[in-house]
Amino acid sequence: MSDHYEENEGRLPGPESHPRGRGETAIIYPVLSRRARGLSLGINLFPDRKQCTYDCPYCEVRPFSAPGARMRPGMVEAGLRAFFAHEWRMYSEQFELRDISVSGNGEPTLSPFLEEALEAAHRVLQDLAGANPYFAGVPIVLITNSSGFLRPDICEMLERFSQRARLEVWAKLDGGSPAMHRILSGSEFAYGRIVDAIAGFAVRVPIKLQTMLCRDSRSGRILFDAEGYLATLQSLVQRKARIGAIQLYTVARPPAEPWIAGLDDAELLTIAGRVRAALPAGIGVECFGRTGHIE
Ligand code: SF4
Repeated sequence: MSDHYEENEGRLPGPESHPRGRGETAIIYPVLSRRARGLSLGINLFPDRKQCTYDCPYCEVRPFSAPGARMRPGMVEAGLRAFFAHEWRMYSEQFELRDISVSGNGEPTLSPFLEEALEAAHRVLQDLAGANPYFAGVPIVLITNSSGFLRPDICEMLERFSQRARLEVWAKLDGGSPAMHRILSGSEFAYGRIVDAIAGFAVRVPIKLQTMLCRDSRSGRILFDAEGYLATLQSLVQRKARIGAIQLYTVARPPAEPWIAGLDDAELLTIAGRVRAALPAGIGVECFGRTGHIE
């Protein structure tokens, strides 16, 4: 999903607005991340065109096509190794690496290269940790819109991987009701099915939930059913879903649809307060406005 790009504060090369080259280097991109709070190294599994199960009106992946940029076996590992060999020294003077993130121009669970990418990131981090133990603690983050949890093969692969690597799964949960979810996902995936799929996965592997908060500027309506959202969270908790944190965020860059507008910090903090009050103390609620973390 595109949310990884949405975080880019514009000071580093983004994957589509600033192509980083061809071949391996086109799929590896450093991002200053609001939510990772530092440098996140992205792996874009869709360098040729956007592929997603959703069509979110707030999506920040621009329509584009680079048919020459095809994924090939071995490409992710080659790209990561090239980055650390040739570029990392420059970045490391200013930033700590907070994570390696599998995201990019679409929904990564659609890619036949997902497992290979996770394994490549794990191998590269292990090798780097031989010289610098810091890298052993760097997580590999999968940013998903949650529709992949409907696929047992994806869930099993992620569970296996999580048992031997430092995997974090950041999963989208938008809207809080079937009607709002339909608007915000631009899809016919039933809200209840997605929630059930999140619950089924999160009892096996811990997740962070990510929720977009925005408004329809034509009506002024916030596209969020707060009551429904809180009820959904409580049902996930009752079902023993392992939710480490909830990240509430708003639009930070131009969205796909011009009628989508971001919320201001005060609106976000009001919603965050309600969410926090409805949850057990162990689940953190983080809030990200247009320019970064707010509290
Ligand atoms: S999940 Fe939504 S925001 Fe993410 S890439 Fe797909 S359409 Fe865009």
